[in-house]
Amino acid sequence: MNIAIFGMQWGDEGKGKIVDYLSEKADIVTRFQGGNNAGRTVVVGDQTFKLHLIPSGVVYGKKLFVGNGVVIDPEDFIKELDALNKRGIYPDLLISDRAHLTLSYHIALDSAFSTYQGKRAAGSTKRGIAPTYADKYARHGMRIADLIELHDNGELAEFVDKAVSLKSKELKHVFGSEELLDKNALVLKLSSYVDFFKKHSTNITREIYNAIAAGKSILYEGAQGGLLDIDHGLYPYTTSSNTTVGGIFTGLGIGLRCKGVPTLDKVIGVVKAYTSRVGEGPVIAELLNDVGNYIREKGHEYGTTTGRPRRIGWLDIVEVNNFVIVNGIDEIALTRLDILSGLKELKICVAYALADNLVRERLPTGSAMGRCKPLYETFAGWDIDISACRNFSELPSNAQKYVKRIEELTGVTVTMIGVGPERSQIIIRN
Ligand code: GDP
Ligand code: MG
Repeated sequence: MNIAIFGMQWGDEGKGKIVDYLSEKADIVTRFQGGNNAGRTVVVGDQTFKLHLIPSGVVYGKKLFVGNGVVIDPEDFIKELDALNKRGIYPDLLISDRAHLTLSYHIALDSAFSTYQGKRAAGSTKRGIAPTYADKYARHGMRIADLIELHDNGELAEFVDKAVSLKSKELKHVFGSEELLDKNALVLKLSSYVDFFKKHSTNITREIYNAIAAGKSILYEGAQGGLLDIDHGLYPYTTSSNTTVGGIFTGLGIGLRCKGVPTLDKVIGVVKAYTSRVGEGPVIAELLNDVGNYIREKGHEYGTTTGRPRRIGWLDIVEVNNFVIVNGIDEIALTRLDILSGLKELKICVAYALADNLVRERLPTGSAMGRCKPLYETFAGWDIDISACRNFSELPSNAQKYVKRIEELTGVTVTMIGVGPERSQIIIRN
């Protein structure tokens, strides 16, 4: 069974935990888009794993593939791997030789450009992701295969020299930044990664094609969330990659079938029981009050990657339904239901009012989104701690009603419910 897992909101829905849970029965776990701007936490017993670029299947010791659609900050990647090695974990990991590299000048440009953009800045994690993708599409990026080839042909210094002179001019003359880029240091650093990449990179398309054709089970681990998709999210407040289903096919280089075997059997949308986001842009169901503060503190809603406080809102079904369509969602994993315990009253945003129209499932574009007003359904809350519940029937009836209403409003079955961060804190419904 080949399963894809997507965030249905603004990321940090708890995909890492769901991927970890599903990894037990998988052979291979893949990433296909995004970079080290992804931050996920997997908790097993008293052990906590904070992951950025390495697929969450690492905790179950599964084979890991990182596709061409992912951008790799080599320094960070090697650090993440070293940290796992220190804990006695040696992942069986292969990276696509077509994945683009995030270099020091991408990181410098990310900060400079975010400052320049001001209030239209997407809320970058400043890890160089957007400039790396921008170089990819402008066709002057560096892929892993290019690094190896340039190095082996003695042309690396020339490439870096040209790139750094261009980026230095951009930094200084466009953004007025005083940051100096060190060409020699970059050449030395890049050279030091060559052996690592020779060992760990390959043609992932061929690997995954053969694995699927041989009947292996694949998990496709989405990063970020639908609203951050470069095409289908709330542009320009998005990330720089396709966080929705198409990203799998371009980001790994596979088709619908491998030797007749379907590449994708099931698509699971991970929905947080409320809304949270880091960064700018419209949050229609935002809670700028004590309820929002309560959820933020109870849920420790501060970014895994950046530590920034997340904006909080009620669950927004209009947004979720948009990504039910875009991703072709078969099942929902509802996470963090435990965080809502203790609230007297809960709301779900079921439609937007936009001038005289009602918006129910497809999101408006541009500034129209910002003019939408939320229309809510209100639910009675529950005050008992649900973190020890393992069966749906053990949940308080008001929590059950909340879940069932989500199913009605989306037309999708909620098959998993997260009631805490730990691996076993999950309710599975068959
Ligand atoms: P991701 O980016 O979607 O993988 O999510 P993150 O890992 O960045 O953020 C989700 C946070 O919620 C992590 O700290 C998880 O350990 C935690 N988490 C996941 N599921 C649940 C849940 O059902 N309840 C609670 N309380 N925490 C959860
Ligand atoms: Mg995260």
